[in-house]
Amino acid sequence: MNDLDTYRPALHRFTLGQADVTTILDGAHIRKPINPPFAMDKSATEIAAIAAANNLPANGFENTYTPTIISIGGQTVLFDTGFGAMGHDNNAGNLARRMGLAGYAPEDIDVVAFTHCHPDHIAGVMEGDAPTFPNARYAIGRREFDAWTDGSEIPPQRAQNREMFLKLIPPLADRMTFLEDGDAVVPGLTAEAAFGHSLGHMMYRLESGDKSLLVWGDVTNHYVFSLQYPDSTVGFDDNKDMAIASRKRVLDMVATDGLLVSGHHMPFPSIGYVERHGHSYCWTPASYQLRM
Ligand SMILES: [Zn+2]
Repeated sequence: MNDLDTYRPALHRFTLGQADVTTILDGAHIRKPINPPFAMDKSATEIAAIAAANNLPANGFENTYTPTIISIGGQTVLFDTGFGAMGHDNNAGNLARRMGLAGYAPEDIDVVAFTHCHPDHIAGVMEGDAPTFPNARYAIGRREFDAWTDGSEIPPQRAQNREMFLKLIPPLADRMTFLEDGDAVVPGLTAEAAFGHSLGHMMYRLESGDKSLLVWGDVTNHYVFSLQYPDSTVGFDDNKDMAIASRKRVLDMVATDGLLVSGHHMPFPSIGYVERHGHSYCWTPASYQLRM
């Protein structure tokens, strides 16, 4: 066990309707500075003021990576894979091992559903030459798969990322379902388009009884510097204008509907709500409402 296992929560599990939801911290990295990647329209002074107002440091941020597992109707679906072996030297790639602590063996995963194909979401799908989740089929947005395969719309800074995609994902195509907006992954879990962070980025909505949860992937990647300022350009976004439009649409929807969210880069356990504050938004971590 390393320090992270001992001193920092890395597993979170709760029941929602008939579904079991587990979030697992794959890893965490300190990155400096804040701009880039976040708040690229803001000055250092403005960023320092935002940081201070939120009791955060102004010289950098922690990026966390939190895949979600949802078991419903006898099917267990993993959303995104973390870094896998490429994270092991750098405080990440812990998903497969920590799943075991949560009671899930790699063999238990029936479906791996990808929100998109950036490294922190796909790298853990293979372990060497073998699939990490040996019984899984795969689900991915059609637009996402086609964009990375074709390559012409992929920005130059994602060239290495595209090499990773070509190595990892197309070889799995014979076990892959290609999703359009509104398609079901399994009964109770539906894909929803939110393009922009990547060309074909997907979210997934769980509906069980009167309960709902949106696995929003990377619609917004920092709970303050992006979520509170959805109009701000983010360096991580592959189509920046489309990403801003999707972010504003999804934040409005989630805040209006009081929808519970699982966000890959929200602070662990990465489960919460979005409150509207004038033209801005605020992330509110879930607490005991899920246990009552
Ligand atoms: Zn990400």
